[in-house]
Amino acid sequence: MDKKTDFDQTKLEEMVGVPLDRLKPKRVHRNPELTLWEKIYVPEVVRGLGITTRHFVSNMIGFVAPPSGKKRSIFTVYYPEEKVELPPAYRGRPVLVAKADGTEKCVACGLCEKICPAKAITIEALENAMGERYPYKYTLDGSRCVYCGYCEEVCPKEAIVMSAEYEGLAERDRRQMIYSKEQLLRSEESVKGRLEYIRRIYAKWNY
Ligand code: SF4
Ligand code: SF4
Repeated sequence: MDKKTDFDQTKLEEMVGVPLDRLKPKRVHRNPELTLWEKIYVPEVVRGLGITTRHFVSNMIGFVAPPSGKKRSIFTVYYPEEKVELPPAYRGRPVLVAKADGTEKCVACGLCEKICPAKAITIEALENAMGERYPYKYTLDGSRCVYCGYCEEVCPKEAIVMSAEYEGLAERDRRQMIYSKEQLLRSEESVKGRLEYIRRIYAKWNY
């Protein structure tokens, strides 16, 4: 581990799924000298088609008859049959975190509503029998959200987090993208990875 940057290469490689060396940008030759063979053009087009066909066939074979007991060497994810595993840094749909009893952790302080640059959050607060504030209504307009994560960052209760949900973020009808408190509530367990991540990252960079 590099002590200066606190950078754990092995951990990061585990998270990304490939050796980091393979992700290094390749040198770009801006003014290549073409050979006569390349100038003829057609052979290179045929070679390109050959490469594309080879990848297509190997992907198809890997999908239809995956090698038993062996890790697949191709990178293609067969979505939607397979889902992408996203790193905890990914910012998907903002969701509300529920307590163990299923009620929201949110105390309706209004900070997320205030900070949201897209004015996507609307809260109506009430007090319960013990005089504690809670969001009687919490509405998030997904058609306005820009996934900046400010709401998560400003929340003093870890009550709203950017989840890894990336499906169903766009609808043909914008009215279906307006989420109520009930639609946004998720168990703490389901967003555990993100909660651990924000504890690390915000503690490191902000305070
Ligand atoms: S992620 Fe950004 S735009 Fe979306 S609700 Fe939160 S603060 Fe607003
Ligand atoms: S900042 Fe957190 S606690 Fe405050 S209203 Fe928003 S979600 Fe609720």
